[in-house]
Formats: sequence, structure tokens, C-alpha cells
Amino acid sequence: TTPAPWKVIDRRKLYMADVESAVLYTLRREATRYDFLEKEQLSAMKQYVAVLVKYFPGRLPIMNYLRNLDFWLRPKTNVSKSEWEEALRNKNELPNAWLPENPTWVGCQGSKRGFPCGLWTLFHLLTVQEALLSPQPHTPPEVLPTMRGYVHYFFGCRQCADHFEAMAAESMNKVRNKDGSILWLWSRHNRVNARLAGTASEDPKFPKIQWPPKDLCWSCQITINGRLMWDERAILRFFKSHFSRGNIYLDFLK
Ligand code: FAD
Repeated sequence: TTPAPWKVIDRRKLYMADVESAVLYTLRREATRYDFLEKEQLSAMKQYVAVLVKYFPGRLPIMNYLRNLDFWLRPKTNVSKSEWEEALRNKNELPNAWLPENPTWVGCQGSKRGFPCGLWTLFHLLTVQEALLSPQPHTPPEVLPTMRGYVHYFFGCRQCADHFEAMAAESMNKVRNKDGSILWLWSRHNRVNARLAGTASEDPKFPKIQWPPKDLCWSCQITINGRLMWDERAILRFFKSHFSRGNIYLDFLK
């Protein structure tokens, strides 16, 4: 196949194509890794779809599709692969409800990127949307545990899933609120970036850096006694603007 033409992108923007593509990839490709969805796998998938319905800031037909899927999935105690595939097809028949067949990677284009990049972006977006839409301190964060379950049971890169589960087991239970979820995922993603920098996983056009770089957020890094440190309040401000609805662009979507 001929490679897709290179798209000119702006790193300050978030592209709906990437997060929507991550959603369709999870539902169409990764959810079918089991012949049967039941028990823990099924509850992880139910929780994931429910979280998308609550917090994914998607286009209306995509949200309608997800709501229909959630409604169908909720009462199930087991779902075979063919029932799942049929359900995904049926939801397209409802008025103004659809999900694209194939992914379009924009901010996540590149030789070794696509879905894993989209999955990180999707979950950063969801942790921020959760903090913006449900900032009450007394309700426990739900996006991070959902991501943990999703990655553990469904993420096709099994080695990645094991690494992520190890980080989750070590410290995810210390996360107390929604802002804490944003910061936990940001810092763990940077830990992964540091581990992978210079390895074969790196696309030379997209070096693994400690993120966000200064040109995206000049106030996020501060120098104290000659040491570079992160300012977590600035990180939160930056995340809540970078991963806000207003920063999501529909470019390259059909
Ligand atoms: P990605 O790391 O995928 O990041 C995507 C985009 O997010 C970047 O382009 C940038 O815009 C932004 N970003 C970068 N850092 C941050 C941050 N700290 N906070 C917020 N946004 C950020 N690969 C392995 O080889 N081994 C592993 O163990 C491994 N574990 C993984 C675990 C998970 C949960 C996931 C989702 C992926 C994992 N991967 C692993 C894949 C790897 O992390 C990258 O996703 C992949 O190499 C593609 O890299 P990328 O250049 O697109 O940037």
C-alpha cells in the first residue's frame, strides 16, 4: 500500500481524528481479541464504554453511537465475538449514529505511532475532561482505573500493558482526586518516554521528550538552584487548556 501523504500539523492543537481513531480502534480491533467477553474483561469493556459516553468530547453522531452501544452492553453477562461485531454494525443503522470504519492519524501520523499515540492522547483527554466536568472532590476519579482495566485486558502491546500495570500497582491508589489523575498520567507517560528515548520504539521525526516542551508551555518548567523542575500548577493549567474542547480541531476528518 502507498503511504498516506504527510499532513502538515500544529503541535499546539489536538486533532479529533486521533482520539476518534483511537476509539474506533479500541472497539473494532482490540475488543475482538477474545472469542468471548465475560467476567473481568466484560466489566472492563463496559466501564470503558461508559466512561467514553460520560467524558469523550466527540462529534454528535459518534456520541450517539457510543450511547447506543453502552445501552446495549450494560445488561450483558457475556458477549461472543460475533455478537459484538454484529452490535457494532447495527449501531450504524440508527439515525445520526456512526463510527468511521478506519483510523485517520493526524497528530499521531508517523512510522511507529498511530494507535499507541492515539491511546495516550485519548486517556489524557479523558482525565482532563473528567476534572473539568466533574471536579467535585468527594467523587472518586474513574478515568484512571478505567484506563488501567482497558490496558490490562485489551491493549494489544502486551509488554506495554505489563509495564503500565506495574506502574499502576505501585502508585495509582495514591491518586486522590481528578487533578491528581491528570498529573499521575502525565508523569507516568514521561517516565515511559524516558525509558524509550533512543530505542527502536522511537520515530526519529518524533523524539521521545519530557513533555510538554518549553515552546508548548514556557511556564511548566522552572529552574530552582540550577535544577530544572516542573511546576505542577502550571502543568494542570496547561493540560486543562491543551486537552479542552476548544483546542480540538476537526481537520482531515471526512
Ligand atoms: P507517544 O508517547 O505515544 O505520545 C503521544 C503524544 O502525546 C505525543 O506526540 C505528545 O504530543 C503527547 N505526549 C508525550 N508525552 C506526554 C505526557 N507526558 N503527557 C501528555 N502528553 C504527552 N512502547 C514500548 O516500546 N514499550 C512500552 O513499555 C510501552 N508502554 C506503553 C504503555 C501505554 C499505556 C501506551 C499507551 C503505550 C506504550 N508504549 C510502549 C508505546 C509508546 O509509549 C508510544 O505510544 C509509541 O512509541 C508512539 O510514540 P509517539 O512518538 O507517538 O508518542
